[in-house]
Order: sequence, then C-alpha cells, then structure tokens
Amino acid sequence: MNEPKGLFPATPATSRNAGIGPFKRLVLRGATMIDGTGAPPSGPYDIVVENGRITELKLVGAPLKAINPKIRPSPGDHEIDCHGKFVTPGLIDCHSHVGTPYHSMSGVVPPADYIYKLWLAHGVTTVREMGSMNGLSYMMQQREAAERNEIAAPRMVLHSYFPAVNERIKTIFTPDQAREWVRKIKARGVDGIKFFGAPPAIMQAALEEAKEQGLKTGCHHAQMAVTQVNALTSARWGLTSSEHYYGIPEALFENRVVQNFPTDYNYGDEYFRFSVSGQMFAQAASPGSRKWNDVLHEFLELGHTFVPTFNIYDANRDLMRARRADWHGDYSWKSVWRYFQPQRGGHGAYWYRWSVANEIEWKRNYQIWMQFVNDYKNLGGRVCAGSDSGFIYQIYGFGLIRELELLQEAGFHPLEVLRSATSQGAELLGIEDDTGSIDVGKRADLLVHDFNPLEDFKLMYGTGAVRLNDDTGKVEWHRSLRYTIRAGLIYDTHELLEQVKQMVNESWQEDNADRPPRR
Ligand SMILES: [Zn+2]
Repeated sequence: MNEPKGLFPATPATSRNAGIGPFKRLVLRGATMIDGTGAPPSGPYDIVVENGRITELKLVGAPLKAINPKIRPSPGDHEIDCHGKFVTPGLIDCHSHVGTPYHSMSGVVPPADYIYKLWLAHGVTTVREMGSMNGLSYMMQQREAAERNEIAAPRMVLHSYFPAVNERIKTIFTPDQAREWVRKIKARGVDGIKFFGAPPAIMQAALEEAKEQGLKTGCHHAQMAVTQVNALTSARWGLTSSEHYYGIPEALFENRVVQNFPTDYNYGDEYFRFSVSGQMFAQAASPGSRKWNDVLHEFLELGHTFVPTFNIYDANRDLMRARRADWHGDYSWKSVWRYFQPQRGGHGAYWYRWSVANEIEWKRNYQIWMQFVNDYKNLGGRVCAGSDSGFIYQIYGFGLIRELELLQEAGFHPLEVLRSATSQGAELLGIEDDTGSIDVGKRADLLVHDFNPLEDFKLMYGTGAVRLNDDTGKVEWHRSLRYTIRAGLIYDTHELLEQVKQMVNESWQEDNADRPPRR
C-alpha cells in the first residue's frame, strides 16, 4: 500500500448502502417514550411517522395492561414492535469533526462513510461540524447529500474555521477583513463559525457581525489568545458557546492574569500544552466563592452555552483506560489508531512522558471543572454534549456515549444527560422546532432501545455493557440501541456495526503488527 505524503481529507460518501425508508406511514407500537425534554419515561405510546415527521403520539394504555386494539392508530406501511422497548430522540453531537486531514500523517485516512456509520450506530442523528476542515465545498456537498438521504449520515450543521491565529491558518489581520469574511461565508451557506481565539478587535468585530448575520459561533479559547480574550469576554461580545474548558479558568482568575506557565513552556510541544492545562482550575477562584458565582451568573445572563467535551481529555486522567478501551480492536481504523500513538508534531499524541503526576492533576482538574458545569446546569444554563472524537484515543460514536457517562459523573441525572444530548443540543443549533425531542410536527429522529438507556449509558456502546447471565454462568454483552431512525429512515445498528468492522479489517489487512487486541 502506498503511504500518502502531505495532508488530505477523507473520501466523501457518495451512495447509501444502509437504511430503509423513509416510509409514507411508519408506526412504532407500544413504546415507553423518553422524550428528551427532561420528562420521565412514559407509555405505552404508538408513534406515527409520516414522510419523516411525527404526526401522532398516542398513549394507548397503561403499563402491564392489555392494549385495546380499537384505540390504536391505523396500520402503517412499515411498523416496528416497540412493546417492552424504549424510544428516545436521536442524539446530537455538538462538537464533531468528519475526520481530520491530520490522520494522513499516519497512513490512509478513513473514508467519511466509516465516521458517519459509527455515528449512526451510536444514535447520533445530528452533528455540529466544528471547523469543516475537509473544506467548505466538500462539507456542504455532504450536508446536502445527507439531507436528501443519498448517503447514510447524520444531519450536519456546519461551522467554518475562523482563520485569525498565528499557530494555524491566518488570513485575517484587521476587523474589517473579519467582518467581510463573516459576510462571505454567510453568503456561501454555512451555519456558524468556529473560533480558536483572535486579537480582541478582530474577535469582537467577527462576533458582532456573526450575530448580525444570524450565524452561531463557538470558540476553543486557545492558550495563545486566551489572555487577551477569555470565555467571558467572548460571551459579552455575543459568542454562542464555549467549547472544551479553555477560557473558563481564565475568567475565574483572582490573583493572576496569565496562568502559571513554566518558563520552559512551548505551546508547540503538546506535552506542555496538555499537562499544564491540567493545572488551570486549581489556579482559579474556588467553587462556591463569590467570584465563582458571579462568573456563573454573568454567563447565565448572557445566555451562554457550554459544550465541555469531557471525553476528549479522558486519557489525561487515565491513559491506559482510554488506550485499552473495549472497542479499539474492532472499530479503530489503522491510521487513526496510529495517529493516537506518542509522536512529535501531531495533535493529541503527547504521551512521550505522561506520568502519574499528570494524571492526578487532571483528575483534580476534572472535579472542579465538572462542578462548574454542573452548577451552571443547576442555575438553568445550557450545557450540551459534544465528543470531538478522532483525537486522543476517542473513536467516533463511542466518544459521545462516553460523554454521556461523564456528564452523569459531573452530577447530571440521566434524564438531564439525555436532555443535554438532545433538546438542549437542538436549541444550541437553532433547530429545536425540527428535532431534539419527541413531539408532533418534529422530524422523526428517533432511537429504539432494547433496554432502558437511563439505567446504564454503557448499554449504548457499539460493544455494549458487560453482564453476567446468572442462569448460564456466562458473560454476555448487552447492547440497547437497535434502530437509529433519522428523518424517518431506519438504520439497523447491527448492520452498521458489521459494515464498520469490515472496513476496519480492510484498513489493517497488511502491516498489522500494532493492531490493538479485539475483544
Ligand atoms: Zn474539535
């Protein structure tokens, strides 16, 4: 196999070889519904979907009581028996990437089809693409193809990368250029902008123009720019959401302005970038302090949203856990796996000297960070689920389910977790009239689960959750997610996972000595 030179994007998806429908009339019978708004489970419901939209939600009885067939909605041209099953809205991954050209540093990048199918197999029916690094024309073509059901993929909401930082691409040098750029990408048809920070005057101009143009904005407040503009400053200028945690501790600083960088720090050495950022919350105002509460309240008044992406830093607090996850053997594409391994010059591959001290710092950092996010949710602030998969040992789809676990660890009730990953995500994306909860008039973005996902989000992993069958004494892997329905199109998750496994096997066909062990 010819190993590629230079960076190039994933092959786009061109046809659909999975999924059935959409149907004129689809009926889900007898489901226990968990609607995504925070409402508790309820049912049994018959859910009627016509041409991809929910047209009727009919409560057809009471638990354990025989259902009177006369009161049920009339037959569909396709039906799914959901008695004893659970139906939730499809998940929204609010921080995602359709691959990254960086993977080509380590071999042939996976096709977009691999990523889309892993998402669908984990119940992801909408993604917010944070950067569109494969190119805007590429991503817009894929967005339209998904919309027309020509490819098997979630709905895509596209954010375009704002090129105004020295360490990446920089083509914007003045506030006027920033405004002009924002108007230009609006005219091209993108949905939002992804920032990595920028000089203050440029950042302010771009955020104000974006607001005027009705574009959503999200920012990763990179260390190179965060002293000048932290998350709170951006929020005051109209930023829609802060991604990850960057820029939050800086907004909470009381006895410093710049974080305590070691003097031999170099941002280009990712060991420094990621180890030192595990010390950030310890340098900021304490939980419950006056400053802490003032900052939370100001974010709340500004209507700001947080997309913490806890999962993408999971390896920092327990490298072995992330590296040895159950799914790598079957589901990690070769170049993606190789890209995760310790290497200089990559992104998220800073393991060349990762230590127990680094992990302990990160565990403590998570405790404070999680408290901040949970406090914000409790005050009424919006927190959304995003995964940022494709880096740091996180695999598409699996990463978002891990995010659900970590939101629960932060203190969210499972219903609050689900709300973050569905209706709150839809609100952030401005598509709440269309999706994000189960209601008449909304698109049929629905998941059919064999087990109650609230009981254990691990059941939603493509690999499932481990259980002991006491009757047989044997270990079993239970998986809850049976069907992912996107705009009325039904995907069998078993079938998707089999297709992905086959693609991954092909990627490892030659030169597989470093393939991670299969479960
Ligand atoms: Zn990202």
